[in-house]
Amino acid sequence: FLCFISDIEISRAQTPKPVTQLAEEIGLLPEELEAYGRNKAKVRLSLLDRLHSQPDGKYVLVAGITPTPLGEGKSTVTIGLVQAMSAHLKHNSFACLRQPSQGPTFGVKGGAAGGGYAQVIPMEEFNLHLTGDIHAITAANNLVAAAIDARMLHEATQSDKALFNRLVPSVNGVRSFSPIQISRLRRLGIFKTDPAALSMQEISTFVRLDLDPSKITWQRVVDTNDRFLRKITVGQASTEKGQIRETGFDIAVASEIMAILALADSLEDMKNRLARMVVGTSRSGQPVTAEDLGVSGALAVLMKDAIKPTLMQTLEGSPVFVHAGPFANIAHGNSSVLADKLALKLVGRDGFVVTEAGFGADIGMEKFFNIKCRASGLRPNVVVLVATVRALKMHGGGPNNLSLVAGGCRSNLKKQIQIAHLFGVPVVVALNVFKTDTQAEIDLVCQIAKECGASDAVPCHHWAQGGRGSVELAKAVDEAANRPSNFQFLYNTEVMEKIRTIARKVYGADDVELSPEAKSKIDYYNQQGYGSLPICMAKTHLSLSHMPEKKGAPTGFVLPIRDVRASVGAGFIYPLVGTMSTMPGLPTRPCFYDIDLDPVTEEITGLF
Ligand code: ADP
Repeated sequence: FLCFISDIEISRAQTPKPVTQLAEEIGLLPEELEAYGRNKAKVRLSLLDRLHSQPDGKYVLVAGITPTPLGEGKSTVTIGLVQAMSAHLKHNSFACLRQPSQGPTFGVKGGAAGGGYAQVIPMEEFNLHLTGDIHAITAANNLVAAAIDARMLHEATQSDKALFNRLVPSVNGVRSFSPIQISRLRRLGIFKTDPAALSMQEISTFVRLDLDPSKITWQRVVDTNDRFLRKITVGQASTEKGQIRETGFDIAVASEIMAILALADSLEDMKNRLARMVVGTSRSGQPVTAEDLGVSGALAVLMKDAIKPTLMQTLEGSPVFVHAGPFANIAHGNSSVLADKLALKLVGRDGFVVTEAGFGADIGMEKFFNIKCRASGLRPNVVVLVATVRALKMHGGGPNNLSLVAGGCRSNLKKQIQIAHLFGVPVVVALNVFKTDTQAEIDLVCQIAKECGASDAVPCHHWAQGGRGSVELAKAVDEAANRPSNFQFLYNTEVMEKIRTIARKVYGADDVELSPEAKSKIDYYNQQGYGSLPICMAKTHLSLSHMPEKKGAPTGFVLPIRDVRASVGAGFIYPLVGTMSTMPGLPTRPCFYDIDLDPVTEEITGLF
């Protein structure tokens, strides 16, 4: 009878405990909480100082096999596992999830609060605006874009002297530099602090960022699948005096500012990363940063609340941090370092933090290890790899259901287990059971998963049963977490070699092929000293390769790199594989067709 109850009905049937009560249960002090209504609260970062000497709990990453477009249940497994750990095994535990983007919520995939009896509640608050972090990111990102175009207009229409007088205004007859301007002067090698002492040549160098319009990498963002914004022309009004250029929009969750929110480990670190963001290149080939534009302090102001994780709860009252939400295909696909760090302190030595990496292990997990763990210094104890019979059948090949499932296990599941082992971390396979799965299929998946090297493989019934349905998984994770994990990074080499290592060892490619543009960008980034940054591949999540239709574990292909970008503030180099777009589109019948509001009861229908 379960199929007649929608996710939102299940969510609504359970009244969450007041967030103040939840906070008290997990050991937060009242002054560490900033409530946003009754059901959610931001948690202040001062908590990290207070719990500084507390040992961390066990760190569990939930990843998956290559999914179908509907998702294979990583969020439900994450929530179900934490529900089982807390309520049934009596371990302190915490789930750390990404904040959903409006793109999938109104597009194809729906929300990301989990589903069935493994959900974050209230799911409509989780899935919609939450505490406004994505809006803050959008505002900050677009302030940078406005600053770029306005600055180019002003530089094009004013003399050096006029620009200087406006950028360094005279107050009561005295001109002085702001701290951000002094910082720019230092980077230019000018160590004077008195504006009157600058030569005309120094004034000219200081006031002209001289951005090359064809080399601006910064795009505007919006959190909607609005494909018509992929390429736009700005500056067409006569007031912009012919400063017309082509640019485009990305989805907000692909913004570098989202990545910074996810990777920063303090307010100061976030501020420094925001200042370092490179927005384009000057005509003389020098990188131009947000700090050069004078906007980095304002960005930190816009982001000062977003940096605090939001506390919510599962259907069974276990704590959840929701923080940051980069996609795993076109961004780095992981929730925030800060949420994980706070949660690891809160659960203490015997507790568990379960955090989720987006899409298949080839992208979300690879980036979790190579980018997030590098930034945080945290080391995972166990990987939970989520599989479903339906996705395994998609990957398999064979005359009947069982041979399809076996084919999927011996190709995609096996390869994804091997990828986790490249990093030296034990793997527990969680088979997310659907009511259409047969016992023979379930037994077969668990048997082959163990043959392929998983420490354990267990069927999970959290979607239908809540935490009770994930007790076996919780026990398997508990046991695997006590095994030695010999974590190691996959690479520590130069850019080209890093890209090749991911392509060959993770995706199974024979080699990579770079476009001339990609090649020259890599040379430029090496020359600028960004060569040591980790790599964040933008690749389809629907295949281990760059070809979405190739299922299983494809081999014998060459990975095409169309372009390479750098997110210097976030701290990664970002190759675009094949035709990946950083702005999704809407299908003919998007999820929004079914979403509605009853104006009398204010009840929402159709969200899932
Ligand atoms: P992922 O995090 O891997 O993208 P989700 O956990 O968001 O996947 O699940 C994707 C969708 O599938 C959700 O709508 C969820 O409710 C549904 N779902 C997940 N597990 C099951 C299950 N065992 N039975 C039925 N539906 C499920």
